[in-house]
Amino acid sequence: MLTVKDKKFVTFIEKQALEERIAEVGREISEEYRDKNPLFVVVLNGAFMFAAELMKNVTIGCEITFVRVSSYSKTESTGQLTEVLGLKESIHNRHVIIVEDIVDTGLTMNKLLFQLSTQRPESIQVATMLFKPSALKTPLSVKYCGFEIENRFVVGYGLDYDGYGRNIDSIYVLAE
Ligand code: 5GP
Repeated sequence: MLTVKDKKFVTFIEKQALEERIAEVGREISEEYRDKNPLFVVVLNGAFMFAAELMKNVTIGCEITFVRVSSYSKTESTGQLTEVLGLKESIHNRHVIIVEDIVDTGLTMNKLLFQLSTQRPESIQVATMLFKPSALKTPLSVKYCGFEIENRFVVGYGLDYDGYGRNIDSIYVLAE
């Protein structure tokens, strides 16, 4: 049992299992992107720890860059728009892999894919540490996934609860 702020969490995916699986994903990407010089676009803040572990296991030539996604409403009628902040590199004609902590409803990733695809990359795929397929609200292709999990709230390994818990070295789930 672990307390993060005012909530209790229990172990869900242990560090060793998590890191073994992330290493596998890294090896898979290395095989599939050999000679493609991919550009990894890491979504901050949540993906920082997953990205570090993943990239240690990517053994091919590649570049890594970091972005933030901010949601804003331009007018009430347009709903939430997503802005990608911090992308200095051109992704035109590049093989892009978006590195994310978790795909829940998929809405964030969907908007991010849309934004980035306007720059006409050669290819674009998603690598996420965790994926909640039953929470998905939009069709989304997730090529690389560490673990598919049920629709429960998790923290650790970059994921926070109200800003805390990102430094925990394994995944914990909210106690029921
Ligand atoms: P989506 O747009 O897919 O619903 O949400 C994606 C974002 O919601 C993730 O990048 C993450 O910041 C947050 N999120 C979704 N599920 C969880 C969860 O179980 N735990 C934490 N800490 N954040 C989550």
